[in-house]
Amino acid sequence: MTDEDKKTGSNVAPLRAPRPCPECTRPSHREHYPFCSDRCRNVDLNRWLSGSYAIPVADDESKAADDDR
Ligand SMILES: [Zn+2]
Repeated sequence: MTDEDKKTGSNVAPLRAPRPCPECTRPSHREHYPFCSDRCRNVDLNRWLSGSYAIPVADDESKAADDDR
């Protein structure tokens, strides 16, 4: 410990630097880390669930499902 440490101790610094939200690149919120809000978290979750992140393999299947209507 040095005197320098004591001085900087009064300067409250965040343990982690805020990361930009992956959805809208705004600063993330601690409650919704790593997202800025619950909405962006849901957007990301829905993207995963809808399979946008997955490699499209069965393109024919989705077309067939459309024809079924
Ligand atoms: Zn966001």
